[in-house]
Amino acid sequence: RGGTAEREVPFAKPGSLTRVYAVASGKGGVGKSSVTVNLAAAMAADGLKVGVVDADIYGHSVPRMLGAGDSRPTQVENMIMPPSANGVKVISIGMFTPGNAPVVWRGPMLHRALQQFLADVYWGDLDVLLLDLPPGTGDIAISVAQLVPNAEILVVTTPQQAAAEVAERAGSIAVQTHQKIVGVVENMSGLPCPHCDEMVDVFGTGGGQTVADGLTRTTGANVPVLGSIPIDVRLREGGDDGRPVVLTDPESPAGAALRAIAGKL
Ligand code: ADP
Repeated sequence: RGGTAEREVPFAKPGSLTRVYAVASGKGGVGKSSVTVNLAAAMAADGLKVGVVDADIYGHSVPRMLGAGDSRPTQVENMIMPPSANGVKVISIGMFTPGNAPVVWRGPMLHRALQQFLADVYWGDLDVLLLDLPPGTGDIAISVAQLVPNAEILVVTTPQQAAAEVAERAGSIAVQTHQKIVGVVENMSGLPCPHCDEMVDVFGTGGGQTVADGLTRTTGANVPVLGSIPIDVRLREGGDDGRPVVLTDPESPAGAALRAIAGKL
């Protein structure tokens, strides 16, 4: 865009009816993107108008997981039209970087990219917008707070106890920025043994509750565990194939857990 003035972020306007959730995690690989994509697909299947911003600069795996693999945005007048897949509109940093070239992003660049994704993309009237944030609790959380002050934070963690420290940090940022933490999702909560149905606690237990308790303490507001998602091959396969498990196998343990969480948002 040639102009100098920044467009207003529509979701930040008073009276905006779009619920905005920033999905955060302390580290990579906990399933943050998988959770984001499945929640989005589940809500869209329930008839909501849903968008996802993939701001995970290190991963940007959302388009593939959602089934929008090689789709590219188009430009109409001076707005960016996002592609959509499985009923979800999606825009990703990966759509603007050539190939898979690693990009060194600095705070201000990321802020600017997020600003454009929120203001220069034609989202239409959304019921829900999910932001897949990079792992860690850095600059981007502050950017989200500045650009969309009413965004609520959804924390994804594994059952490992080490997750608790992350919660303290995420919590203190939320306190500083006056943002609400809507809840905690525990992912990879045990592997049901395919032979005997007994649960194997691959990553331990209790991390989700520990994080929720820590966040409740640091923020002074009640932060619930919204649900636990087991380890499930179908969830991983669905991510690789761009067919979210909530759609292909909604009654599977992971699919059912994700749909239940979507229903609480
Ligand atoms: P993050 O966004 O936190 O880096 P991803 O969503 O990319 O994590 O997940 C990392 C990998 O783990 C992916 O291959 C994904 O398919 C897999 N995965 C995530 N959650 C589960 C789960 N509950 N069961 C099985 N595989 C999972």
